[in-house]
Amino acid sequence: MTAEPVIDTQGVPTTEPAPVTVRASLSPSRAADFKTCPLLYRFRSIDRLPERPTVEQARGTLVHAVLERLFDLPAAARTPESAGDLVAPQWDRLVTEEPELAALFADGDTAGVEGFLRSAAGLLEGYFAVEDPRRLEPAEREALISAVVDDELLIRGYLDRLDVAPDGALRVVDYKTGGAPREAFEARALFQLKFYALVLWRTRGVVPRVLRLLYLKDAEVCDYAPDAEELVRFERTVVALWRAIEQATARQDFRPRPSRLCDWCSHQALCPTFGGTPPPFPVAAAAPDPLVDARSRPATPGADE
Ligand code: SF4
Repeated sequence: MTAEPVIDTQGVPTTEPAPVTVRASLSPSRAADFKTCPLLYRFRSIDRLPERPTVEQARGTLVHAVLERLFDLPAAARTPESAGDLVAPQWDRLVTEEPELAALFADGDTAGVEGFLRSAAGLLEGYFAVEDPRRLEPAEREALISAVVDDELLIRGYLDRLDVAPDGALRVVDYKTGGAPREAFEARALFQLKFYALVLWRTRGVVPRVLRLLYLKDAEVCDYAPDAEELVRFERTVVALWRAIEQATARQDFRPRPSRLCDWCSHQALCPTFGGTPPPFPVAAAAPDPLVDARSRPATPGADE
């Protein structure tokens, strides 16, 4: 594979970053929230309403943790058995770090926890059906990447895995563990991957050769090959999205946009679509810290990110 040429937003080849004054930041999750439903963005990023983790989200976090640790092992040891052996210790670690996860199961519900761990192991079987980790040496895992676009907007997010071929070609890999209907989330997943592709292109001067979604439940691979022109357009989309967020914040006007994704939304009780009333707009949001973009990870309603 060969590296793509580097082209700036005007179509001019460049590798030199311009001096910038960062004024705001945006993660793919939050950008996708606004695209999905402006009110959902408000609830998550401005009101910062808590969302109790679901079993499905916890399973996704656990499987991501196991897959990350799996690549700490020597290549020959990355077997399904080794991955299975990592499940319980990684769950223990996650519960220690995030005690609210323990509340997903009633005290003494050993059978519930065991069933949960088995279901995570089942997703790992899906992983091994589509990839052989003994043949891979990822360049990065769970890496925070960022770039400045439009001279003032910092875009950043965590990618699950980045593979780099000997010729420098990049492959961005994202694990999808959610049980929600895939078609409901595929556009959002692709948006997220293009976001990473844009960051990598802007920071490394290489358009990723492949954006890969690994659907572990279905044991399926979905590959997408972006190109530079598409990423230029995508960059304009991201900047326009940010401007729309700024305008909505200034007007305190975030409208609900009902869709199939409402079924996975934690905030139906406060949503006018479901007869609810949003809380008063937070005063502090009128003068937000522009570099605070709430949580950059996770979450999609009902799906892992
Ligand atoms: S329930 Fe649906 S319309 Fe309401 S905030 Fe959530 S995603 Fe938006």
